[in-house]
Amino acid sequence: MLIVMKSSATEAQTAAVVRAVEELGFKPHAMPGALRTAIGITGNQSPIDPSRFETLPGVAELIRVSKPYKLVTLDFRSQKTVVRVGDATIGGDELAIIAGPCAIESRSQALAIAETVRKSGARFFRGGAFKPRTSPYAFQGLGEEGLRILAEIRETYGLKIVTEALDETGVDLVERYGDIIQIGARSMQNFTLLRRAGKSSLPVLLKRGLAATLDEWLLAAEYLMSEGNYQVILCERGIRTFAQHARNTLDLAAIPAVRRVSHLPVIVDPSHGTGKNYMVTPLARAGVAVGADGLIVEVHDQPAQALSDGAQALNLDQYESLVSEVRSIHDALAPAAVT
Ligand code: PEP
Ligand code: MN
Repeated sequence: MLIVMKSSATEAQTAAVVRAVEELGFKPHAMPGALRTAIGITGNQSPIDPSRFETLPGVAELIRVSKPYKLVTLDFRSQKTVVRVGDATIGGDELAIIAGPCAIESRSQALAIAETVRKSGARFFRGGAFKPRTSPYAFQGLGEEGLRILAEIRETYGLKIVTEALDETGVDLVERYGDIIQIGARSMQNFTLLRRAGKSSLPVLLKRGLAATLDEWLLAAEYLMSEGNYQVILCERGIRTFAQHARNTLDLAAIPAVRRVSHLPVIVDPSHGTGKNYMVTPLARAGVAVGADGLIVEVHDQPAQALSDGAQALNLDQYESLVSEVRSIHDALAPAAVT
């Protein structure tokens, strides 16, 4: 259930409703908006009796939520969420660009790429220190050493660091060295990991699972939010289909579909979404045109030598062209066209 407060409700009235929710043993999520505050209730296994709340001062209406999720919805928060990392944003007016190698392979590799990423004006640097690889014999990432390299990049270039946590210990480490916790496609339904990341003070980039429906993806985001972390970014990264011409099928219809129900920012990953270098730029353009809040793109200074995902990595020149192209597409879109 969502409790919507009157626009005239006082802070004390909102606090009293929050207390009433807590007294029932449930968790209140108060979300102030431009016009009114909504209070989401989680932790209840069965419907809540509305009579407990409807007479409390300041309460405008009670909305019974029929969907399986509530905090991710536009009912809970009618304005878009803007995720903030220092002075960089995802979901606001600027097109967020997150770029870097699939994996941090060495200090020199990562710094060479970061130099170009910084020069492009992107605010975020990506790179895996812990890699979820299909084969146990494939390069698994440098671990904490990779995170130390990322921390150096943050220090040197002022880029915000986006990096994956594979497990709860990984979240502890990303909290120490990074700025945004990436939860990978293969981990989208790792519920203990989601709960741990939901307790973090860092934003979470939640990739869509390889075979996840929209509802399952939003429910994974709901796990994060139900633990109190409202700084969630969704990422469409392609799903498994019968198509064989690409590594995955980038489901761009997911962007307007998410927009219709959720206030969360949503970005596109044209790298994993296609798996092929020549498809990355066309799908990046399409992702921005369809209204994504940003892109996460894999870039390598020597794609042919990459230890993971070399086939989809852009080289530095290709990356620079991509950024200027997608920026002009973003600038050409009237704000109204992408909502
Ligand atoms: C990655 O970003 O390198 C990655 C492993 O992504 P995904 O979880 O989408 O496969
Ligand atoms: Mn990758």
